[in-house]
Amino acid sequence: MKTACNYCGAWHDLDDTCAGRTIRCTACGKSFIAPTDLALTGQRHLLASFPVASLVLLHYLTAGAFSVMYLNLLHERMPRLRRDDPSATVALGLCFIPVFNLYWFAFSFHRLCARINEQRQFAGLPELAPSWLAIPVGVLFACGLTATFFTTAGFYVWGIIGAVALPVFAGMVQHSINELCEQQATPMAAPVA
Ligand SMILES: [Zn+2]
Repeated sequence: MKTACNYCGAWHDLDDTCAGRTIRCTACGKSFIAPTDLALTGQRHLLASFPVASLVLLHYLTAGAFSVMYLNLLHERMPRLRRDDPSATVALGLCFIPVFNLYWFAFSFHRLCARINEQRQFAGLPELAPSWLAIPVGVLFACGLTATFFTTAGFYVWGIIGAVALPVFAGMVQHSINELCEQQATPMAAPVA
């Protein structure tokens, strides 16, 4: 968990077992009580490691369906820090709303990267989730959804999405999550009492 010192406001990364216990601030030396588990429920992300190779394999085995589902469901695994941060149901559901989904893929993928990067920042890691790739991938989806009605063009666009754009994006997203989970598996501070 991430918590600020009551006296000087310095941020501390604490092991979850510190909840409700007295912590000594390394910045100002004063002691304060870390928030209890209850106060932290909903703040903690539930992202989990998953091998990038398996994700890419599942992507190809399911013709991309796995990646679309998996990426949108990730929204559920992070605290909702903005009013329009979608839940998994909303994120996945809106992919199937005609016309609106032309916009939705870009929004969902871009916000997903922003939310992961936020969690990485809290953990002191650089922003590695590919926000820059989210919009182009979303635009390709919009093109694909539109081009479906023009046969040949749609075939090529969906080919690019399925063969390259989506597996690369999903792989990079998962890599940024794996690194975060790996880093957080090591507790960084211990309680003093
Ligand atoms: Zn302090």
